Amino acid sequence: MTDVLIVGGGIMGLWAAVKAVRAGLFVHLVERERIGAGASGGLVGALMPHMPDRWNPKKQFQFEALASLEAEIAPLEAETGLSAGYRRSGRIMPLGKPHLRTIALRHEQEAVTNWHQSGSTFLWNVQDSPDVIGWPAAEACEHGVVLDTLAARVFPRSFLNLLKTWLERQHDIIVEEGTGVDRLELGCGRATLSDGRVITFDHCILANGVDLFKTTDCVTTSGLATPPLGVPVKGQAALLDAGIDPALPVVFQDGLYIIPHEGGRVAIGSTSEDKFDEPLSTDAQLDVLIERARAFAPCLRDAPVIQRWAGLRPKAIGRDPIAGRHPDHKSLHLLGGGFKISFGIAHRLAEAVIDRISGKAAALPPSFELAHHFALRR
Ligand SMILES: Cc1cc2nc3c(=O)[nH]c(=O)nc-3n(C[C@H](O)[C@H](O)[C@H](O)COP(=O)(O)OP(=O)(O)OC[C@H]3O[C@@H](n4cnc5c(N)ncnc54)[C@H](O)[C@@H]3O)c2cc1C
Repeated sequence: MTDVLIVGGGIMGLWAAVKAVRAGLFVHLVERERIGAGASGGLVGALMPHMPDRWNPKKQFQFEALASLEAEIAPLEAETGLSAGYRRSGRIMPLGKPHLRTIALRHEQEAVTNWHQSGSTFLWNVQDSPDVIGWPAAEACEHGVVLDTLAARVFPRSFLNLLKTWLERQHDIIVEEGTGVDRLELGCGRATLSDGRVITFDHCILANGVDLFKTTDCVTTSGLATPPLGVPVKGQAALLDAGIDPALPVVFQDGLYIIPHEGGRVAIGSTSEDKFDEPLSTDAQLDVLIERARAFAPCLRDAPVIQRWAGLRPKAIGRDPIAGRHPDHKSLHLLGGGFKISFGIAHRLAEAVIDRISGKAAALPPSFELAHHFALRR
């Protein structure tokens, strides 16, 4: 009998496993393909804060998560000798129109209040030009730039490898790849795996990415099936060998991310496609994005593309992540739907779910709770 069965080896499932092991629980993590086979195995890894205006519990939760992530990663890196590719490199956003500067100056003041908490101070600075000429190109920055010091980045595949390696060195856990959970019987705590084995559990955490929204035996058993709690949104990204300074800030504008990673590589993301025929292949939309990035950052003009990638992001209805216990099935917990912000908050979401399993109180923003998502679905 396992204390916690975790379905899915993406960023959500892996953090749930780390937190569960640390809480002294016996964990069985089952991944249908391989760790990182889903959306988490990508190239981008931006850790982008919400705007500092109109503060609410969701923004507070994300702020605390982003502020704490570095300290969460450091001991895992020290224990494994591996790197997550984490750096708080900040984010630069060009201001191409005068009204954008007016709004940005307002946000600058809002950040003074909302991004200054419990000894952590982060800035939303409006500047006339970027600190590094050409990052981004002057034509894009006619009305200045915003430089925020809260944003950071990780390299997703390195981060997953770090978490996986740490977990494999622990005693109270089984990590299985190449085996799916085909069926859950929640009343008796039984899971049937794709190879026919049956395992028993006290608690099950569904962290199965876009499959959380599918009609499968798993979800029909839990009464989650129709209509679904969210939808998959396809995203495409590319990795360039640019030889640039990895400390440069992330460039962001209108859905375009340009992320300098260690080793001088640069990730470019991402398309957001509600309709698609081929979920995992790249096409001309990615070429358009790459050209846009090269125009924004001339130093990327001749950088060769070394990888192209596409994946399906789990986007919950209403866009907020889903975390918590199912109201009708006390042994079932959901963790997912993080859309574009999962990497910055997964550790805190997982902690809350594991705390509740361990009988501790754990606050989550009301809009993350299952009851809220069920209400939106109706
Ligand atoms: C192009 C692109 C760019 C992105 N950029 C960013 C970014 O910059 N920053 C950010 O924070 N987020 C970003 N995201 C979003 C982020 O990648 C996702 O929100 C996140 O990875 C979701 O993690 P997850 O663990 O919920 O799901 P996944 O990573 O999809 O993991 C779910 C896992 O469950 C497994 N599984 C499914 N069903 C079963 C079953 N029955 N049994 C066992 N295993 C099962 C799957 O094989 C999969 O490995 C991006 C996504 C895309 C596509």
